[in-house]
Amino acid sequence: MPKFTIVAGARPNFMKIAPIIHAFQRQKKAGIEVGYRLVHTGQHYDKKMSGDFFEQLSIPEPDANLGGGGGTQAEQTAAIMVAFEKELMENRPNLVIVVGDVTSTLACSIAAKKLQIDVAHVEGGIRSGDLSMPEEINRMVTDSITDHFFTTSEIANVNLRKAGVPEERIHFVGNTMIDTLMAQLPNFRKPQGEMFNHLRPGNYFVMTMHRPANVDQEHSLKAMIDAILEGIGGLSIVFPVHPRTAKNLQNLGINAANLLLCEPLGYLEFNYLVKNAKGVITDSGGVTEETSVMDVPCITLRDNTERPETTLLGTNELVGTDPKKLKPYLDKIMKGEWKHYQGIPFWDGKTADRIVDTLIKTYS
Ligand code: UDP
Repeated sequence: MPKFTIVAGARPNFMKIAPIIHAFQRQKKAGIEVGYRLVHTGQHYDKKMSGDFFEQLSIPEPDANLGGGGGTQAEQTAAIMVAFEKELMENRPNLVIVVGDVTSTLACSIAAKKLQIDVAHVEGGIRSGDLSMPEEINRMVTDSITDHFFTTSEIANVNLRKAGVPEERIHFVGNTMIDTLMAQLPNFRKPQGEMFNHLRPGNYFVMTMHRPANVDQEHSLKAMIDAILEGIGGLSIVFPVHPRTAKNLQNLGINAANLLLCEPLGYLEFNYLVKNAKGVITDSGGVTEETSVMDVPCITLRDNTERPETTLLGTNELVGTDPKKLKPYLDKIMKGEWKHYQGIPFWDGKTADRIVDTLIKTYS
C-alpha cells in the first residue's frame, strides 16, 4: 500500500493541503488502499493563523505536530528538520508532499530527500527571480531536489524545462488554493463585529501587508498607508493585520476613521470581504490568485511576482512599493475601469483529484 506524508506549516499552506486531504479521503472511501499522514510543523501555531483554518476548511487533526515555530529563519529551519527527520524515521512514507514556499516547505523537503524519500512539490516551478525574499530561496532549494512537480501554470512548466527537469516529472494540474476557494464559496460569511456592519458590496476596500520590504521600515509603511487613504476617497478599508506587521503599525499610531484595523480573519470571513470589495491592495501571492478568480480588482505592492498568470489573465496589477505610483491605479478602480478575469487553465476546482490520482498510480 502506498504511503504519503503531507506537510503543512503556515497559513498559506492550509488552504493548499485541505483539498489534497479530502481527495485522499475520497479515494479511501472508494476502497483504494492508500495511507497518508498529516504533519503540522508548528511554524504558525496560534489560533488566528492556524487552528481556525483546520476548523473552517474541515482539515482533520494532524497526526503529528512538530512544534517548530518561532526563532530566526535558520533556527526555525533547523528545528523543523530535526523533528521531521525523526517523524520520517518512525513513520517512513514512499513520498513526502510539500506545498508552497514557506520555511517548512524547504526544511521538510531536505529532511525527506536525505533519507532517500521522494518529494512532491505542489506549486513547484514558480519564480519571481527576487532572492531578497526568503520564499524565492525556499522555492529554488525545494525544486532542486523535488521528484514530482505539480504546477499551477504553463509559465512554471517553462521555468522547470529551462532548469532541465524531464517532462515526465512535470504534472500540470492547476491550483489547489482555487480548489479550496471554489469549494468554500457558498460558505463565505460576513465577519462578526460592529466595525463591519456598514460595509456593503462595492463600498469598501480590503488590504493585507506583511512582506519585509513593505512593513519593516516604519516610515515607508506610513507613507504607503497615507497614500492608500488618500486614494480611496473616504471609502472604508479593512486591514486584517498579520502578526509580522502588528508592532510597527502600532508604533505609527495611525488614526483614520475609515481604516478598519482588525486581527487576521478566518478564511471564510476574509474571502467574504474580498469577494464583495471594490478592490484589494496586497503584497500576498495567494490573495492575487483568489482575487483573480473572483474577478475583484487587485493592486500588488511588489515589484515582481512569481505568479505572472494573475497579471496576464487575472485581475492583478503589479504597482511596486513606491507610494507615489498608487494614485492612477486607485483612480481606475474607483471609476470601475479595471480589467476582468479571463480564466486560467486548470484552475477549475479539481486540481487535488488530479494530484492524488497521479500519486496513487505512480506509487501503487
Ligand atoms: N487570509 C485569511 N485571512 C486573512 C488574510 C489572508 O484567511 O486575514 C488567507 C487568504 O485568503 C489566502 C491566504 O490567507 O488564502 C494567504 O496567506 P498569506 O497572505 O499569509 O500568504 P502568501 O500568499 O503571501 O504566501
